[in-house]
Amino acid sequence: LVDFIHISKGFGEQLVLDDLNLSVHENEFLTLLGPSGCGKTTTLRILGGFESPDKGQVIFDGQDITHLPPNKRNLNTVFQKYALFSHMSVSENIAFGLKISGKSDAYIKDKIRYALKLVNLEGYENRLPDSLSGGQQQRIAIARAIVNEPRLLLLDEPLGALDLKLRQDMQYELIRLKNELGITFIYVTHDQEEALTMSDTIVVMNQGYIQQMGSPEDIYNEPQNAFVADFIGESN
Ligand code: ATP
Repeated sequence: LVDFIHISKGFGEQLVLDDLNLSVHENEFLTLLGPSGCGKTTTLRILGGFESPDKGQVIFDGQDITHLPPNKRNLNTVFQKYALFSHMSVSENIAFGLKISGKSDAYIKDKIRYALKLVNLEGYENRLPDSLSGGQQQRIAIARAIVNEPRLLLLDEPLGALDLKLRQDMQYELIRLKNELGITFIYVTHDQEEALTMSDTIVVMNQGYIQQMGSPEDIYNEPQNAFVADFIGESN
């Protein structure tokens, strides 16, 4: 579904991604895992269209999207800071993208109901974000992304701010959404356990390079180098 082809990106003197090649398949849950500063977020931002690569191409569904603006890419991004509009109700937040794309009121109402059910927040339509817990706000951000029916959802440490119990609930909920809706996920985390639990495929990154890519079992049982072994081992 997605191909990064020879992607390089630098900021000033610093080369953040160096000739990155990566393919993501339809309905895959792929996690970019690595220490802070290794280039995970930059990879996601390039795919989302918030950053342009210095070199290389990004292909999505057979189309070269390297130079398309973010709103033309038919994918949705949820960042760790959930960034809901604080002056808008839950419903208005969820409806925002649908309104912009000119959907009818009946369609929008239907979608809001559907999305709130998916994230188990029925009855919260008229609440303002400030009256919700962090986890509830994050679920609203995910609902808002889902109503746009993206084929691809980009999540950047979406559970980073949540406590352990809520994190585990949300991990389960995201996997359920992937299975029910057939969405492809690209997920960024520096949490080894989270990656091992949720992913179909893990891409271990360090300093702009892919160190190893494989199933959680492969990465855990057969780390290909000392970096991967140390990084995964830290979770035990
Ligand atoms: P984290 O887990 O801390 O979010 P990350 O792996 O997502 O880290 P990136 O955010 O991709 O890492 O950043 C990679 C490197 O690029 C970092 O050293 C960062 O300081 C640098 N960087 C990212 N964005 C910019 C920018 N807009 N201007 C300058 N440097 C940047």
